[in-house]
Amino acid sequence: MGETRRIVLKMSGEALASSASDETIDAGVVERLAGEIAQARSELDLQLAVMVGGGNIWRGTTGAGAGMDRATSDTMGMLGTVINALALQDALEHHGQATRVLTAVHMAEVAEPYIRRRAIRHLEKDRVVVFAAGMGNPFFTTDTSAALRAAEIEAEILLKGTHGGVDGVYSADPKVDPTATRYEEISFMEVVSKDLRVMDLTAITFCKDNGLPILVFDLMTEGNLLCALSGEQIGTLVR
Ligand code: UDP
Repeated sequence: MGETRRIVLKMSGEALASSASDETIDAGVVERLAGEIAQARSELDLQLAVMVGGGNIWRGTTGAGAGMDRATSDTMGMLGTVINALALQDALEHHGQATRVLTAVHMAEVAEPYIRRRAIRHLEKDRVVVFAAGMGNPFFTTDTSAALRAAEIEAEILLKGTHGGVDGVYSADPKVDPTATRYEEISFMEVVSKDLRVMDLTAITFCKDNGLPILVFDLMTEGNLLCALSGEQIGTLVR
């Protein structure tokens, strides 16, 4: 028997939104993603925690750009991620996958607080953990929060699912430059020096400092999530 793999998946809030309509959360999309997670969990020896973003609801920088206090605006963003986390939990449980939402901002009536050892305990009991409210601090993103939590719970890899139609890390923006090529593997240093926008710089340098590899892949193509969770060679591996 191989060793159980422990993985953190970063899922952007926009991945849950509808591309066809202006729905903030598309129940059909959430259902599909939850189905792939539940299938992977039943087929693979895998412990999975998901960090959900909130960009479909609110981004701190949007408010700050309009003159709001940045910390207040970021707090609004963090609360948005909780809404997404509850949607994901609901869909996962429809698929029979026991799920716990752990929030970095305390709201005891809604979800458990994030406690590192409790998160690990849930994973060991075959529950999917959904991290909500990022890391609970303004001025950070859920990318950086996902990296932090992955290091804390000693996950072997951080999966960064993209939603914009780009299936990995490219030498240039493939939407602008037709000669852009996708890397199968790239180093943290190269990502930084070439300013390739994989995740924000804080998240990248954190992963580099802590030796945490990142797999960047297209989350929206059906079946990809299962492939990525199975350890198949898709997207770009940053390490
Ligand atoms: N946020 C924050 N601290 C955190 C995580 C998130 O302040 O630890 C806020 C920040 O304003 C951010 C918003 O929550 O813009 C939504 O998260 P993010 O932009 O990372 O979501 P995504 O782009 O992944 O959907």
